[in-house]
Amino acid sequence: MGLVVQKFGGTSVADATKIHRAARRAIKTKLDGNRVVMVVSAMGHTTDHLLALAKQITHNPPHRELDVLLTTGEQVSIALMAMAIAEAGERAISLTAAQVGLVTDSVHSRARIKHISKERIEAELQAERIVIVAGFQGIDPVGEITTLGRGASDTTAVALAAVLGADHCEIYTDVDGIYSANPRLVPQARKMDQISYDEMLEMASLGAEVMHSRAIEFGKKYSVPIHVRSSFTDNPGTMIVESTPGMEDVVVRGATLKEDLATVVFTDIPNEPGVAARIFSRIADNHIVVDDIMQNVHSGGTRATIGFSMLADDLPAIRNIAEILQREIHFGGAEITEGVSKVSVIGIGMRSHSGVAQKMFEALAESNINIRHISTSEIVISCIINSTDGQKALLKLHNAFALDTLPISVN
Ligand code: ASP
Ligand code: MG
Repeated sequence: MGLVVQKFGGTSVADATKIHRAARRAIKTKLDGNRVVMVVSAMGHTTDHLLALAKQITHNPPHRELDVLLTTGEQVSIALMAMAIAEAGERAISLTAAQVGLVTDSVHSRARIKHISKERIEAELQAERIVIVAGFQGIDPVGEITTLGRGASDTTAVALAAVLGADHCEIYTDVDGIYSANPRLVPQARKMDQISYDEMLEMASLGAEVMHSRAIEFGKKYSVPIHVRSSFTDNPGTMIVESTPGMEDVVVRGATLKEDLATVVFTDIPNEPGVAARIFSRIADNHIVVDDIMQNVHSGGTRATIGFSMLADDLPAIRNIAEILQREIHFGGAEITEGVSKVSVIGIGMRSHSGVAQKMFEALAESNINIRHISTSEIVISCIINSTDGQKALLKLHNAFALDTLPISVN
């Protein structure tokens, strides 16, 4: 007998009709001969509304209490889903994270899963129930309520699929799969039949908003095939799977645009051991995530510039840190550039094919787009450009790499 985990996002359970529709899908899967575990998000924009409510009370809500508040959204959905399934004549039970035994660390608002107990879920499946688990939430080792970060119901679902040894994990959402680029920006973007975990991880962190990154990490670590598909049609979506040698024939699988970035360059820094460590530990202490780091050495090797890109949201914090660092290590200044974006091309085929960077730079040059910085990894090439060129660059690259056509093998 198969075991399937089905996750329904907020838009897929936004009202009573949609809850009934999701319930019917789970029931059908059960009647097809599978054991079914559902993971549901809060209805529609509930989580945003709860956050806004908290902000009406205080500008700085304690994270512990925020977690108590936000987890109510998923508790509403699981109860309604269980009622919908019962109404359709099937057996179901809703379970919170505490009832399951989904234990996390104690970092409120971005906790990490440490352990998931199988006993309760397996007993309920044994009793032929559809088990409906609240996404996004956990409890810490002393029973405090935690949440796993925005969008993390995906992570709950894939982690459960891993622990329970599910055949696969289905992510039901309001788009019908993963696209070669954001279809809102690139109308010709193509839905992919499959993508590797590594490519999907890069796409997610480089701006594709479809899935929570940690869910993909779980999928990769425990080899859980993930099927991202629409809850409103029966069409197959995109399978996120382990890469096969054939997948490397496609050199570039997708393109992304990450907007609202800034770059910061510290100039005229002493080029001595420990300076970079000091700068970046200050930044990390403030929980700022920096992206690409670049360093240049000049003045006969005695001075350097160190720069990085980051989310523009973190600029106020960076300005404070720059002032503190200025007192500690005396450098020239902090040059801050706002209004930049990062355009990237992604594909595991880059591991075995060359010429991608050249083609990317030529395409951008043809469109008269200036490149501010370049960074590369094994399967990604990224360029920082002016935000005003963002969409044009994405369209151009999508076109240059023919991402709108069926994947072509490189001979
Ligand atoms: N309800 C949570 C959120 O809106 C978790 C999720 O939907 O995945 O972020
Ligand atoms: Mg989501």
